Amino acid sequence: MYPILFEESLRSKLVWVIVEMLEPGIAVEWPGGVAPSMKPEGWKLESWMASPPRRRRCSVCATLFLRDLLYGPDVDFEDLRVRFTSGYERPLLSAILAAFARMHQTGNPEEDQPYLLLAGFAESFQASLNLPRSDLPERLRLALPKPDHCQTIPLLIYGYIGRSMTARACSNPECGLRQLNDNRAFQVCGGCKSMRYCSKACQKRHWKMNLEFWPKSMLSSAGPAPHKVTCPVICHVHATVPLTADSYAFERDFTTAVAIGAVTENDMLVLCSMMMADTVLPDVSKNTLLRMVCFQLHYDNPHS
Ligand SMILES: [Zn+2]
Ligand SMILES: [Zn+2]
Repeated sequence: MYPILFEESLRSKLVWVIVEMLEPGIAVEWPGGVAPSMKPEGWKLESWMASPPRRRRCSVCATLFLRDLLYGPDVDFEDLRVRFTSGYERPLLSAILAAFARMHQTGNPEEDQPYLLLAGFAESFQASLNLPRSDLPERLRLALPKPDHCQTIPLLIYGYIGRSMTARACSNPECGLRQLNDNRAFQVCGGCKSMRYCSKACQKRHWKMNLEFWPKSMLSSAGPAPHKVTCPVICHVHATVPLTADSYAFERDFTTAVAIGAVTENDMLVLCSMMMADTVLPDVSKNTLLRMVCFQLHYDNPHS
């Protein structure tokens, strides 16, 4: 997320736009009773948005935009996510609940993405306002993922590789320098085209980092994986399972690739080790990941 979006008048205007797009014309409780922006004179869009399909399209756009703002590649940068919505949780929650009320689950994973996203946003704003989860509509609570099954290994891998490709930070975990307002382009690893570095020195460092511990101590506390080990595996994943905007398609194709042996157990271990040392992935996801990997290995080799 670009830091400029946090500069005050821009941030509040952007929140206002998102609220207006989620639920055009909704009356919400703005802090201090004053909306951060106003509709321009001669505003005609509301009548254009009157038809349900157009209205839905607006809500979907706002939902996806909010997802990119809140869960985009740079959320690890300080507490941007919290700072962006801070003070506006209540109006956002009202608009999210109103937009959710107009949507229905279709059973098509791609179409249902905004529906599920809105449910997740509502839950997190409800929690940050210290309001009881039981006050959320039942239909919304049913759309929330069960705590332990939020993410599967393929979805975590999808998120990790996708974020590495788009993050504007140096991939050397000891550096993490950000390419923000600086126009200098970071160089991308010529192999996997996923990791990027602020300098040749950082690329070299990441390549051999902790190499002496590998492959003996995968999934242990050996620290970040050397890129020399992970680069070929990432290349292999790119070549085997296309990384498109559709995370569910990736999840499905990745699962198939594992089942037919196109992605091997060793590949999985390398990918999981990489994520275990990731600084962005929350501990709860890491614990789930570790449990899933251990279960999988035990399941595959019950006598080992
Ligand atoms: Zn690479
Ligand atoms: Zn660097």
